Amino acid sequence: MCAKKLLHDTSHITYESLLEGNEQFIADALAEDPEYFKKLANGQTPPVLWIGCADSRVPANQITNTSPGEIFVHRNIANMVVHSDMNMLSVLDYAVNVLKVKHVIVTGHYGCGGVIAAMSNHEFGLIDNWLRHIKDVYRLHAAELDAIENEQERTNRLVELNVIENVYNLCKTSIVQNAWKNGQPLAVHGWVYSISTGKIKDMKVSTSDNANLGDVFKFE
Ligand SMILES: [Zn+2]
Repeated sequence: MCAKKLLHDTSHITYESLLEGNEQFIADALAEDPEYFKKLANGQTPPVLWIGCADSRVPANQITNTSPGEIFVHRNIANMVVHSDMNMLSVLDYAVNVLKVKHVIVTGHYGCGGVIAAMSNHEFGLIDNWLRHIKDVYRLHAAELDAIENEQERTNRLVELNVIENVYNLCKTSIVQNAWKNGQPLAVHGWVYSISTGKIKDMKVSTSDNANLGDVFKFE
């Protein structure tokens, strides 16, 4: 979700234009490689699972210069890893245990409407129950966040902390822990994307074992 006005005019996008766009996509892909769709239809072996925000300005493939078949994607509002979210857990389970991805990347972005909404005291409706998880991140880091006077900077920092906490949430899942216990090579990472520059910031929280996990979360 986006709290800001759209950055560019989307009035030319219609239901019909999407289908016309599809025809163009097919023509372009086949012009470059006549076997393109035959190869893709053979199956997928993406080495990466992307857990990102639903925001339309943060498409996994475009911003990493990758193609279909190269990144397995799960997106929700504010790139959350909620351990009771069956949708996320199912994607994670399939990615780790069937596709055997080598990396899982939680990618947030500055200016995230979900994070901005969570920082306010406004009631938005059903989504408040989802935003609660971000408010919990704020509570965990309230001392640091409250000390930041500039609201924009405070929001940016919450975006970063939300990514870090969700990387941590990812590590706590039974799926990731069992992969590590079984010696499966799997690294988890946290990134924050800047819509205004296009640049990805690596939050340097990459880990490939449970050494940084609190004892209570570890399985024997
Ligand atoms: Zn967002």
